[in-house]
Amino acid sequence: MRSKMRSETRPEVQAFVALGGNLGDAQATVRWAMDQLANLPHTRLLARSSLYRSAPVDASGPDFINAVVELVTRLSAPALLAALQQLEHLAGRERPYRNAPRTLDLDLLLFGAACISSPALTVPHPRMAQRAFVLLPLAEIAPQSVSPAQLQAVSGQTLSRIPAQCI
Ligand code: AMP
Repeated sequence: MRSKMRSETRPEVQAFVALGGNLGDAQATVRWAMDQLANLPHTRLLARSSLYRSAPVDASGPDFINAVVELVTRLSAPALLAALQQLEHLAGRERPYRNAPRTLDLDLLLFGAACISSPALTVPHPRMAQRAFVLLPLAEIAPQSVSPAQLQAVSGQTLSRIPAQCI
């Protein structure tokens, strides 16, 4: 019955969210989304990674801007996913075809120690371990969450950190 609990009475859970975009002013959109995540109800933003630039993987269009944030939230995982999808919608996200360029993509990477496998939500995110653009920003703010072997496995993927003075 946990999913029926009111958010304010739920225990806080540490969650990590990946942000990405490659349409429009993606740096501005990712920074906007970080601010929106900090303002979600029953949620605090504890850490934001640097912004990174990556070539599209399984997608098309310009380079992506990527980042990861750490939240603590009393929202349930489905409620947090719904909030992420609402932010994607507000950012003008369209899905004309699979893996199309996108203004904003928000993925729930980790939700405490939860393992979730429902039609709408898989956590830990099933492809996070294959993606340098997720693992490197995650390792920047939560080094204990990423093993050296995981980093080694994606070391062939090109990713550049955008210097802070350019953000
Ligand atoms: P995308 O095209 O990457 O935005 O994928 C969105 C779809 O993935 C939605 O239908 C979500 O319900 C589903 N999904 C499953 N697991 C996750 C997750 N951990 N984070 C975000 N979306 C997820």
